[in-house]
Amino acid sequence: MSQQVYCLYCGGKMEDGEASCPHCQAPSHFQERGFAEGGRLRFILYFTLFAIAVLLVALWLPR
Ligand SMILES: [Zn+2]
Repeated sequence: MSQQVYCLYCGGKMEDGEASCPHCQAPSHFQERGFAEGGRLRFILYFTLFAIAVLLVALWLPR
């Protein structure tokens, strides 16, 4: 799934999957896929740990 973003250099619309801007040919700064995926993976890991912690606290707490 791709998303419409704006070029940092000319402000033109482009797809975030594009390697370079179709208007001014500047290299896209939205193309840092390795970093983005690493961050998302870490977010999922933290979210899972947080969910497990909440579940344990909910089970341990007296009702
Ligand atoms: Zn541009």
